[in-house]
Amino acid sequence: MMSNKIVDGKPLVWIGVFAHPDDETTSSSGTMMKWVKKNNEAYIITGTRGEEGTLGTGDLKIKREDLGKVREEELRHNLDLYGVNPPYIFNYRDQDLDKEIPETLAKKILTILKETTPDVIITFGPTGISNHPDHIAIHKSALIAYKYYKSETDRNPLLIYPAIAEERAKDYGLELSEDEKRLDIVVDIEDTFETKIQGLKNYKSQEDAQQLAKRFTEHNFIYESFSISPINELDENSTKLINYLTSL
Ligand SMILES: [Zn+2]
Repeated sequence: MMSNKIVDGKPLVWIGVFAHPDDETTSSSGTMMKWVKKNNEAYIITGTRGEEGTLGTGDLKIKREDLGKVREEELRHNLDLYGVNPPYIFNYRDQDLDKEIPETLAKKILTILKETTPDVIITFGPTGISNHPDHIAIHKSALIAYKYYKSETDRNPLLIYPAIAEERAKDYGLELSEDEKRLDIVVDIEDTFETKIQGLKNYKSQEDAQQLAKRFTEHNFIYESFSISPINELDENSTKLINYLTSL
């Protein structure tokens, strides 16, 4: 028997498996906040502290050697703001994730999956949206971890990717895989949109986050979209989870 039944009234568990502080906010914080507001749990894994990012925006000037610590603090602050548990942070250096053996990284993810027993796992799809090598590395290892998790437990969590409509992806100059263009799950995040924008702005160290805050606000992007990874073996409970996410 699968034990992650949506019907049994227990809190459901969401986990985001990402590479850098801010990946979670850009891709899925609006949905994650709605999830948590319904008395569910959420966790984030980040493979690195993003030490190679930009060194501050506005008047903020950060020394390269301090950036990891600053970005970790930004992440912790935001997760607290969203009602999400403190992050699991692996000690890889930014841009080094793809130098790790995928199996080794997968084992670390697997340990946390066993600890948190997720119902929904979100990680990047095959291109990592931006083709960042760290994003692609975490995608590959998350998939390996997912397979192990399913074979070693009786659970069948739903694995999803952030997805962007083809036209919008073109505007951004993104070349996505087919699996990242399918909008299988679209979540209306109007009620958490302001906090998402605040979260992006709170990543004061990062130029990208500031630009996205501006762009999301200008275009009023009050939806987050996800695709269902083809790796899933969908069952009745997966369908319930998909419906639950869509109606959050
Ligand atoms: Zn990233």
